[in-house]
Amino acid sequence: MNASAKINLKGYNLDELTAQMASLGKKPYRARQIYQWLYQKNATNWAQMTNISLALRTELAGLFDLNTLSLKNSMKSALDGSEKFLFELIDGNLIEAVYMPEERRRTVCLSSQAGCPVGCTFCATGIMGLKRNLSAGEIVDQLLFINAHIRQPVTNVVFMGMGEPFLNYENVMRAAQIFNSELGPELSARHITISTCGIIPGIKRFTAEDQRYKLAISLNATTDEQRNQIIPVNKKYKIADLLNTAKNYTRVSRRRVTFEYILIAGLNDTMADAHRLVAMLSPIPCKLNLIPYNANPQFPFRAPSEEHLNEFIREIYRAPFAVTVRRSKGLDIAAACGQLYVSGQIK
Ligand code: SF4
Repeated sequence: MNASAKINLKGYNLDELTAQMASLGKKPYRARQIYQWLYQKNATNWAQMTNISLALRTELAGLFDLNTLSLKNSMKSALDGSEKFLFELIDGNLIEAVYMPEERRRTVCLSSQAGCPVGCTFCATGIMGLKRNLSAGEIVDQLLFINAHIRQPVTNVVFMGMGEPFLNYENVMRAAQIFNSELGPELSARHITISTCGIIPGIKRFTAEDQRYKLAISLNATTDEQRNQIIPVNKKYKIADLLNTAKNYTRVSRRRVTFEYILIAGLNDTMADAHRLVAMLSPIPCKLNLIPYNANPQFPFRAPSEEHLNEFIREIYRAPFAVTVRRSKGLDIAAACGQLYVSGQIK
């Protein structure tokens, strides 16, 4: 059997691994051992799985591959210690992930697609268009690589890298389930956030399936006219429908939803926007993350001034929901999604 004919096990859940082992006449405990080696002990080759006999490891190595990506480049921020990784997939596509250390949290921002079909006009990934969906294994491997690289477990995962997670729903949920599993990285569901630009069918499915992960929605505008300019999918999924869907999610799940709002100077940062935002979100159990736009010469948008930002925040703080202001990490390493890839810093 040549290497390309091998099955890649990364992304298999425990039931699938058990079935795979059963088809080879192996006992279920073998699947549990392999699962734990892959997802909890960050094994990248069969030789590391020392509680499995050499004969069996040799047999399995002839049948199965374990890795889906390799590191192409990385950049570490001198400002805040965040680190950005550019990975090459087996077919040559490139994706990226960002590690963001904080006092008590070690968060990674993962990609769900190579490129993105949504085409948000402020986002470097949007320019690329969609190359393809990532497999669950390719999503999982981003986290496992970073776990091994920082030599301690990541505590939080956010799906805010390249791609729209709800346009690759099954593989994102499968990866999240592996992150959440007892023999895997054991991340609590509340520490895994799925962030969508507002794909209403995805939110409805997430609600109907009672997924326990956190839901975040990138709102970024207070009128359809504004939002159409920056998030083209808004022409299909309008703000009023999106807010109704979010409200229904909170009602059914009894969980809060987080709204992300990137403040772009002159576009969505007026005092009228602040008033509309409070009025729109007040009926929904939610939290609001305000994110000052991270200016990029590739795009015609500007960051709000510090003074204006403070004025906007003062207005918003009257709201009945929690508000946080999130500064971008890794400003010196182009850590906003897609920037490393598109800005041509790949050697
Ligand atoms: S902001 Fe997100 S949804 Fe929009 S183009 Fe970028 S990656 Fe896609």
